[in-house]
Amino acid sequence: MAPTAAPPPLPGKKRRIGMMTSGGDAPGMNGAVRAVVRMAIHKGCEAFAVYEGYEGLVQGGDYIRKMEWEDVRGFLSEGGTLIGTARCMSFMQRPGRLQAAKNLITKGIDALIICGGDGSLTGADLFRSEWPSLLEELVQKNELTTEQVEPFRHLNIVGMVGSIDNDMSSTDATIGAYSSLARICQAVDFIDATAFSHSRAFVVEVMGRHCGWLALMAGISTGADFIFIPENPPEDGWEQEMCKIVSKHRALGKRKTIVIVAEGAQDRHLNKISCSKVKDLLANDLGLDTRVTTLGHVQRGGPACAYDRTLATLQGVEAVEAVLDAGPETPTPVISIIENKICRQPLMEAVKLTKSVAEAIQAKDFVKAIGLRDAEFKEYHTAYVTTTAADQPHLLLPENKRKRIAIIHVGAPAGGMNPATRAAAAYCLARGHKPIAISNGFPGLCRHHDDKPIGSVQELKWLDVEGWASRGGSEIGTNRGLPSADMAKTAECFEKYQFDGLFVIGGFEAFTAVSELRKAREQYKAFRIPIVTLPATVSNNVPGTEYSLGNDTCLNALIDYCDAIRQSASSSRRRVFVVETQGGRSGFVATVGGLSVGAAAVYTPEEGINLKMLELDIDHLRDQFAKDRGQNRAGKLILRNERASDVYTTEIIANIIKEESNGRFDSRFAVPGHVQQGGIPSPMDRVRAVRLAVKCMQYLEDYSLSGDDLVADPMSATLIGVKGANLVLSPMKQLEEHETDWPARRPKNEFWLGLKDIVDILSGRYKVHHPEA
Ligand code: ATP
Repeated sequence: MAPTAAPPPLPGKKRRIGMMTSGGDAPGMNGAVRAVVRMAIHKGCEAFAVYEGYEGLVQGGDYIRKMEWEDVRGFLSEGGTLIGTARCMSFMQRPGRLQAAKNLITKGIDALIICGGDGSLTGADLFRSEWPSLLEELVQKNELTTEQVEPFRHLNIVGMVGSIDNDMSSTDATIGAYSSLARICQAVDFIDATAFSHSRAFVVEVMGRHCGWLALMAGISTGADFIFIPENPPEDGWEQEMCKIVSKHRALGKRKTIVIVAEGAQDRHLNKISCSKVKDLLANDLGLDTRVTTLGHVQRGGPACAYDRTLATLQGVEAVEAVLDAGPETPTPVISIIENKICRQPLMEAVKLTKSVAEAIQAKDFVKAIGLRDAEFKEYHTAYVTTTAADQPHLLLPENKRKRIAIIHVGAPAGGMNPATRAAAAYCLARGHKPIAISNGFPGLCRHHDDKPIGSVQELKWLDVEGWASRGGSEIGTNRGLPSADMAKTAECFEKYQFDGLFVIGGFEAFTAVSELRKAREQYKAFRIPIVTLPATVSNNVPGTEYSLGNDTCLNALIDYCDAIRQSASSSRRRVFVVETQGGRSGFVATVGGLSVGAAAVYTPEEGINLKMLELDIDHLRDQFAKDRGQNRAGKLILRNERASDVYTTEIIANIIKEESNGRFDSRFAVPGHVQQGGIPSPMDRVRAVRLAVKCMQYLEDYSLSGDDLVADPMSATLIGVKGANLVLSPMKQLEEHETDWPARRPKNEFWLGLKDIVDILSGRYKVHHPEA
């Protein structure tokens, strides 16, 4: 057979990059494809989509198509994978992989980015390791000539983990996992209402054959009474244990029971724990009216949540960078995320580690199995156990170690405040501390009538907080007022209630309040107690952290809003919507929201707005609308932070665009306002609230200094936050003095500033503003 023609590689470092999605579909895969295609084109490379996963690679021909910029328009908001996926048997065999190698070379493709689960990534690694021998065989069989294969001696592969199970080691999150969790939590929240109404029990089965991440996180997010996960099977006698816990909760006054079972749940002898067995126990032994709900494939569906869109986008960009950085000997990387940092890890080690979890489970070595999951997984598991079951005598501290811990909310409400309060209170109760809620912030604490306090401080009981795992807003009430409004009175109240530690949840006001208390310790001895702040604000503008509770809920509310108006914009006519986002003087919400919705432009207070900028953006819009064709028409969005400019308001910008478009397109403005605070907190905010609140309680519990020693200790007033790949407690003094831009009410170095270029690159705006680049 005559060898098929193959194009030469692109000149210089430029590459032809194939992108494929493989294994089970996961929300966010489309965002990954969009990011890879556009970043590749931005870098001067050519991008190809391999349709239907490895099946397309083996079939070749029209299954491997060159992608242009416009081909991925609108991808971000679509669920599943638009380029298709398949389970492909022929790629498991060498002849299939031989054909795949030939197909890649005949298209001139010399790098492959694969988004899939551990199976897909194992296949990818095998393909790369066999590559030289596959080329040899192709020449031997006269399928290709030596000259043709020569430029393709090295195939670079980069893995991205797309899987709803979050089952890959070496990364905190896989693309799709949080979207799936959102679907599960939404379903359980709905079930919760009916369970409560009828005082029923529900057994809910969620996906996860070898990995209990979804079940664990759903358990934490919904305050489920009991969970079953494959990595940590319950001890023998679990039947009685589960019934005991459920009975206790019922005896305390709980009207509903939720038990979450991972698909792969089993006991310590590897016998399956089925939903029907759990149901029978609850029904027969406890006499509860019990139903089973199997969520099934709804867990895979729907559009990606904000986090998955951002994760997929940033990882897609990183994957292209990894291709361009790779040399012939570079080991195949997989793109991961640790806390808030996108990283590259050796792919095969990650796959090996992942497989060893399943092996450890099979070998009944459950300590090893849970140990092989990320540290975060273990922490979450401990947090769940500590904060869920009421009355666990073995967790109680001796009397002399128990403390009175005050909990206060400061500033605007943010998703996650209630779950954090619930977790803190439950932790305190489990350990024997007294959790004391201060209602309505510092003004609430100081509110007195005839010199008597009026019900603003009360001890929390288990049942008070039990239902707060999924509740939005602030149940104990929040207020912007600062202690400085009446420092003497605040100190008097602290003295009166004899707090041993203070847990402050809130945004920049909370940060300011803690700073005031810390500085007032010289004067008022009552403030000489350990204080910890948990940042919670939609604006995500608190120094010392890259993540505040509530910002994920806010971004999800914003993308839902933007998706809806974008649909309206594309259905009616060529229209651009200018959407005003919250965020105060921080452009975080606008920028990361822009990344999640694929905004045409983002205006932030950090950068400001000027006429030249608007002019270039209008030229860009004109150009983009001119390229719109048929199915690919999509409405455009611009996100403008509420404080980006005093002059160029959201309405004025929309009017300028309309006027300058010369009738070629229309423009409107939209202000989602407080919609952005979200209703029900997102699962990410719920689970992080629990993890962070427990850490804060542990800090207060362990803190032992007092008096002058405490005043001198920088760690006596702290803030918990995520910094890059680390979760850290930072001393407030350091943050106040070195990391805070006080007039602008934001951190001096905002971690997300660099993300703005990515929004611009992926919308094509970057080239318009930097023609020299
Ligand atoms: P999910 O986590 O959703 O199950 P996955 O990527 O693990 O995703 P698999 O069905 O295991 O899903 O793998 C997808 C495809 O990857 C397979 O159909 C096959 O084509 C290829 N593949 C998997 N394992 C291998 C292997 N060991 N060798 C070659 N190809 C493989």
